[in-house]
Amino acid sequence: MNAATILKSKGSGVVTATANKSLLEIAKLLTQHGIGCIVILGDDDKIVGIVSERDLMRAIGQAGPKVLSEPVSDFMTKTVVTAREADTVDRLLSEMTIHRFRHMPVVERGRLLGLVSIGDLVKIHVADAEFESGAMRQYIAPRPSLVFDQASRLRRAGGA
Ligand code: AMP
Repeated sequence: MNAATILKSKGSGVVTATANKSLLEIAKLLTQHGIGCIVILGDDDKIVGIVSERDLMRAIGQAGPKVLSEPVSDFMTKTVVTAREADTVDRLLSEMTIHRFRHMPVVERGRLLGLVSIGDLVKIHVADAEFESGAMRQYIAPRPSLVFDQASRLRRAGGA
């Protein structure tokens, strides 16, 4: 499974904002949409940054609530690591683990196509693990016909 497949099932919607928005506006967007990060776009719709709830908490923790009126451009991460549609779940997970973040915008030819979060990847891993354990249980479970064959063989051996 790759980023394109994930976006096909979860959809391509990404909540975005411009760099002049205040941290308070960003906090409101995060709350309204129940999400953990917002992609910041420039005039040409190209990604210029990413801001997550972690950046927000850090800013408030360091400077106090007055920081909420300041522009997000001062607090966002400007070097954004993006994914390609062909990137596999394992590759996305490894990127997120290496860089210690939980979100990756998916971009092709400079166009934002969607966003994959660590939650999406964990969901896929859990579904895979459940499928594998189900298949394993089915494989090792005694099949009724085999149990019957074995029982009749034992009966024959015992002369019953
Ligand atoms: P997160 O784990 O996504 O809440 O983000 C943790 C930190 O990494 C924050 O400072 C974010 O701004 C930053 N961050 C999140 N996603 C990315 C990304 N794809 N590329 C670069 N930085 C990111």
